[in-house]
Amino acid sequence: MDTALQERLHLALLAQRRAFEAERMPSYEVRRDRLLRLLAMTRQYGDELAAAMAQDFGHRARQESLLADLFTVEAGARHAMKHLRRWMKPRRVATPLHFLPGRNVLMRQPLGVVGIVSPWNYPYYLAMEPAIAALAAGNRVLIKPSELTPATSELMARIVAEHFRAEEMQVITGGADVGKAFTELPFDHLFFTGSTAVGRHVAQAAARNLTPVTLELGGKSPAIVDRSCDMDLTASRLAFGKLFNAGQTCVAPDYLLVPRELVEPLSQRLMAEMGRLYPHIAGNADYTAIATPRHLARLQALVDDAARRGARVLRTHDEQPDPAQDRRLVPALLLDVPPDATVMQEEIFGPLLPVVAYDQVDEALAHVNAGDRPLALYWFGSDTSVRDHVMQQTHAGGVTVNDCLWHLGQEEQPFGGVGASGMGAYHGEWGFRTFSKEKPVFLQSRLAGTALLRPPYGATFERLLA
Ligand code: NAD
Repeated sequence: MDTALQERLHLALLAQRRAFEAERMPSYEVRRDRLLRLLAMTRQYGDELAAAMAQDFGHRARQESLLADLFTVEAGARHAMKHLRRWMKPRRVATPLHFLPGRNVLMRQPLGVVGIVSPWNYPYYLAMEPAIAALAAGNRVLIKPSELTPATSELMARIVAEHFRAEEMQVITGGADVGKAFTELPFDHLFFTGSTAVGRHVAQAAARNLTPVTLELGGKSPAIVDRSCDMDLTASRLAFGKLFNAGQTCVAPDYLLVPRELVEPLSQRLMAEMGRLYPHIAGNADYTAIATPRHLARLQALVDDAARRGARVLRTHDEQPDPAQDRRLVPALLLDVPPDATVMQEEIFGPLLPVVAYDQVDEALAHVNAGDRPLALYWFGSDTSVRDHVMQQTHAGGVTVNDCLWHLGQEEQPFGGVGASGMGAYHGEWGFRTFSKEKPVFLQSRLAGTALLRPPYGATFERLLA
C-alpha cells in the first residue's frame, strides 16, 4: 500500500471536511456562486476541453464533445441554479391528528464531503454532472477522473483548481491504484460511474466505512423492435443511438431483438442509415475513434469470436482504416450470433450491433429477463398494448420509446441503474436529494397531546389508544 498516496488523499479529505464543518449549511448565495463558477469554467474552457477529449480518444467528433460533455453540463448547472431555492426549502409534511398542534418538517441537509469516481467515455460530463448536484446540495467534492483520458483529466484538475478552492472542489488524477485508495476514504457519500466489475470493488470499499454509495454502472441494454414499428424511423434512430461516440456510451443500444421476418429488411435499412450518417470511416471528422488500442483490439476480437462461432458479419463500409494511424472502427451488424459468443455475454461498448431474431414478444422478454437488469431498454413500435406489456414485464434503469439515449437528457427524471446496472439515481432534483440527508424534524407544541401518554398510566391511556 502506497502510504504517501494515502496520506495525500487523507489530507485532501480532511481539509474539505474541516471547511465543511466550519460552514455546515451553505446559503443559497454560496451554492449559487459555486454553480456559477462551474458554469463559467465550462464556458471558458469549452474549446480546450473538446481539444483534450479529441487528443485522448485519438479523434472525438467535436460536435459530440460539445453536445454530450459541454452542453449537458451547462444545462445541468442552469437547471440546478433555476430550482436551487425551491430544492433547498424545508418541506411541510402532514402531521397526524393526535400529534397536533405539533408540526412536521423535512429538512434537506448537505452530507459533507462527497467522492466522485468517473469513467473515460464522457469524461467531463460524468465528472461534472454529479458535482453539480453535490455542490447544489451544499457539499464539498473530491473527483477522481479516469486515467484513460489523461489530457482531459489533467485539464480538469487545472481548471477546477483555478475556479475553486481545494477545500471546495478538487480533482485528484491517477489510475486504478488511486481509485482504490480514493474509494477507501471515509467519505460522506461515494458516487461511482464505471463498469459493473469495478463497481463491486467500490461497493465493498464503501461498506467498510458505511459510506453510502451510488453506483452508475453498465450492462447490455436491449432494443426491442415490434412488428408495429415504422422501419425507416426505427433504423435511422437506432443507427444514431448506436454510433454516437462510436457506441462508447453506457446507454447505447447493445443488441437488437427483432421479429424474425424483419431481421433482413431492418438490417438492410440499418446498413443504409449508418452509411448515410458516415459516408466514409477513415478520417471522418464526425465519427469518433475507439478510445485506446486495447479497446479497439477487444472489439475486433469480439467480431472474430462471433464469426468463428458462425455469426454473419455485415460491415457497413468496405474499408479498413489502419489502426496504427486511425482507431475508427467500421460499424458491423452481427446476425445469427450464437448465445455463447462473447459479444452476447459482455457489454459491447463499440459500434457492433448483434441482431437477434424472435417469433413471439414473450421470447424477447424472456431473453431480456434471463440476463442482468440493463441500464437502458428501448422499444420501437406503435402498438401501445405491446409497449405497455413490455414496460410491465421487464426491468431497466430507464427507457426511451421509439428512440435511443434521450431519456438520459431529462433533468426532471431520475437517471440510474437497477440490479447489476447500478443503484441510486441523479439528475436534477434527484441528484440534489442523493447528496442530501432528508432530516425529519418534529416541532412539538407547548400543548402536546402526547403528555397524556405518560405515567401514572390509568384508564384514559387505553381509551386514547383504542
Ligand atoms: P472502469 O470501471 O474501468 O473505470 C471507472 C473509474 O474507476 C476510473 O476512474 C478508474 O480509474 C476507476 N477504478 C479502476 N479500478 C478501481 C478500483 N479498484 N477501485 C476504485 N476505482 C477504480 O470503467 P470505464 O472503462 O472507465 O467506463 C466504462 C464503463 O462505465 C462501462 O461499463 C459503462 O457502461 C459504464 N458507464 C456507466 C455510465 C452510467 O451512467 N451508468 C456512464 C458511463 C459509463
